[in-house]
Amino acid sequence: MRAVVFDEFQRKPEVREVPTPEPTPAGVVVRVSATGLCRSDWHGWMGHDPGIGLPHVPGHELAGTVEAVGSRVTGWRLGDRVTVPFVCACGRCASCVAGDHQVCERQTQPGFTHWGSFAEYTLIEDADVNLVALPPELSFATAAGLGCRFATAFRAVVGQGRVRPGEWVAVHGCGGVGLSAVMIAVAAGARVAAVDVSPAALDLARQFGAAVCIDAAAAPGGAAQAVREATGGGAQLSLDALGSPQTCAASVLGLRRRGRHVQVGLLPSVDGLTAVPMERVVAWELEVLGSHGMAAHDYPPMMRMVAAGELRPDRLLTRTIGLDDVPAALTAMDAAPGAGVTVITPHGPEEALGS
Ligand SMILES: [Zn+2]
Ligand SMILES: [Zn+2]
Repeated sequence: MRAVVFDEFQRKPEVREVPTPEPTPAGVVVRVSATGLCRSDWHGWMGHDPGIGLPHVPGHELAGTVEAVGSRVTGWRLGDRVTVPFVCACGRCASCVAGDHQVCERQTQPGFTHWGSFAEYTLIEDADVNLVALPPELSFATAAGLGCRFATAFRAVVGQGRVRPGEWVAVHGCGGVGLSAVMIAVAAGARVAAVDVSPAALDLARQFGAAVCIDAAAAPGGAAQAVREATGGGAQLSLDALGSPQTCAASVLGLRRRGRHVQVGLLPSVDGLTAVPMERVVAWELEVLGSHGMAAHDYPPMMRMVAAGELRPDRLLTRTIGLDDVPAALTAMDAAPGAGVTVITPHGPEEALGS
């Protein structure tokens, strides 16, 4: 099969023939119809993830059809239309038994712990625990983003963030996950203050219902002060959807008293430490929460809202590209996420956009 491979971190990947995966006993091989390009792929290529071995095939936001089924898989058949969370759980560890598959102690992540979906086919371990069936009306291209950015945003806003109607929600960073969070918070009845340095990203946030859009680069007192002013004293809930020391601090400092900060963007650093304004956290009794994907069994409420048209992940898609375009697109992602979502179509755009 054809796949996007890199042999060294930070050196341009290439598209070449590699062996097609075989299913493990509990796994399935999925024919990848669509797969999203994500900043996490860029982090992986940069060498920020110690779990990645070389050579490597990235890609973790996928949708497609079951192509081959392992001998112990009971719930899935050839041809089933599926997606997966980016955290694939083992289903057996203490966290999984407690229902917290998103923090599984033996998790696998396609595109990180093993070769991923920037390829014609990819292996999904523990298929009975991790596969999510796609409703027939949902295209693969739209579904590809559900497993990472959209489900992550849903859990961050609704689950960990406990959003309530009428609250102010600040979203720092309006790339794929941030725009998803804007859409989900608006659907939940919240008022959204969107923050980014890209006018194009803020334009999309406005289209998705953000009440206030703040250009962090143009805010004289900084993004946090701009959020506090725009929200009458600070947001009740704030997300760092980008993942940088600056956006993390701005998110915390833009909260009102007893507000909730949810860290969604990855914050890799050399020593694993990030400066957070803890003095404010203590004095204002803020909550600081992490959010890490969403378990497959938590998908139904989100899927019902998607099916009902209350959430429109299809509106996030801005372009489709082929495997051959991935090396240039991946290496072009730098500290700032692009506006909207790029979907890769290993078997062509017609298959990706079909349902
Ligand atoms: Zn992702
Ligand atoms: Zn587990």
